[in-house]
Amino acid sequence: MDHNCIFCKIANGEIPAKTLYEDEEFRVILDLAPATKGHALILPKSHYKNLYELPDETAAKVMKLAKKMATTMTEKLGCDGFNIVQNNNEVAGQTVFHFHMHLIPRYENDNQRISWNPLEMTQDELEAVKKQITE
Ligand code: AMP
Ligand code: ZN
Repeated sequence: MDHNCIFCKIANGEIPAKTLYEDEEFRVILDLAPATKGHALILPKSHYKNLYELPDETAAKVMKLAKKMATTMTEKLGCDGFNIVQNNNEVAGQTVFHFHMHLIPRYENDNQRISWNPLEMTQDELEAVKKQITE
């Protein structure tokens, strides 16, 4: 646990939050500035800065928990869809540097968007990127 980290304190119960779920390794809380009704965060109780630092075993458990939470929340909230969002590093929008996964229920006409501006790429450019990643 990192004593300067707000999500460490929340995950370990030192700072109160609206907890939706808790087990030995994780706490799921409501985001205090939600994108939509029910926007929640999965927090590991151990401090990992981002996805790069997350142990494989924890990463697998996070995804399983995300699926479980999305299923329950969809049932209970009656939302129409769901976004799972996870930001790494400032350039990608990360503001709290303790790994977390956003669970964002989506509703018809909720007036939110999770979007990017699509680039135009030729097949050659796509091929070059593929090579860069895989070779
Ligand atoms: P990110 O931009 O991916 O780092 O997301 C950080 C999220 O944490 C934002 O959606 C904030 O609204 C949320 N947040 C920050 N502080 C708190 C807090 N004390 N309790 C609940 N959510 C928080
Ligand atoms: Zn932390």
